[in-house]
Amino acid sequence: MDKTYVYYKGQIVDENIVNPGIRNKAFNYGLGCFEGIRAYWNEEASQLYVFRLYDHYKRLLNSCKVLNINIQYTCQELCDLTVELLKKNNYKTTVYIRPLAYKSSNAISPTLLDNENGLAVYCQPFGRYASKEALDVSVTSWKRVNNNMIPGRTKATAAYLNSALAHLEVCQNGFDEAIFLTGEGNVCEGSGENIFMVRDGKLITPPPSDNILEGITRDTVIKIAKSDFGIDTVERSISRVELYGADELFFTGTAMEVTPIVSVDRRVIGSGKIGTITKMLKEQYMSLASGDCQKHIKYCTPVY
Ligand code: PMP
Repeated sequence: MDKTYVYYKGQIVDENIVNPGIRNKAFNYGLGCFEGIRAYWNEEASQLYVFRLYDHYKRLLNSCKVLNINIQYTCQELCDLTVELLKKNNYKTTVYIRPLAYKSSNAISPTLLDNENGLAVYCQPFGRYASKEALDVSVTSWKRVNNNMIPGRTKATAAYLNSALAHLEVCQNGFDEAIFLTGEGNVCEGSGENIFMVRDGKLITPPPSDNILEGITRDTVIKIAKSDFGIDTVERSISRVELYGADELFFTGTAMEVTPIVSVDRRVIGSGKIGTITKMLKEQYMSLASGDCQKHIKYCTPVY
């Protein structure tokens, strides 16, 4: 098998030599934060394009600030080392990139005070994340962590226990993905994706104040809906029952891309098929993320 290279302790190294110890704080207490980034292989251009690379690292540095993780890299340095890593692995396929910033000390206390911090980046070939083309989902009984408990908007590793519990519950009940409500009962997001509702030709999505992660795909969809199709987005709280009556529903996320939802809690959404607006936005998103759309090429960083 070919070697896989990762970024670890300031260098690009063979993944096999990386072995964080069992005492590591990130492992013991989840004291870390991360990003999920995609790079799309464009066969026609013979190019690998990383989608909104700078914006992902801006979010990571912001998460680091909240968690007191000082990784000593600028946003541009993080972008450059990621491009180097992709080159070194010689990827010519669609890839998922996972940068992780974490507390690297082995001391026993669960504190963010100490100043031993680590950065690791690994990548892997990655196709469709959703289990199928259109999803049957359910509202989970687990509530989304409030930002004053564990700040989910920092993509804190620890917040993904909340996601994993919700996902486990709904999958064991025969659904494909979970929708979280906030503690107050408003619709929040999926276990790893934002949610949009289509109603009377407009997009509606929960605001950041409802404890969502401010998704980069969410932001892209809001922008292209307006610029390319003249569709406005309203950011406002959504109630669970409103979901059932939506014309269309879809998830957005780096891994999930734009994925239609065709039922919620066994209530059929719209016609029960992929909606017209969802389809349009999905196609446009895929085209721009893979570097096919010159108008939006600024979002794509070429690797080769
Ligand atoms: N919410 C959560 C909880 C997530 O984990 C993700 C995936 N990063 C998203 C939303 C979507 O964010 P993005 O579009 O930036 O991938």
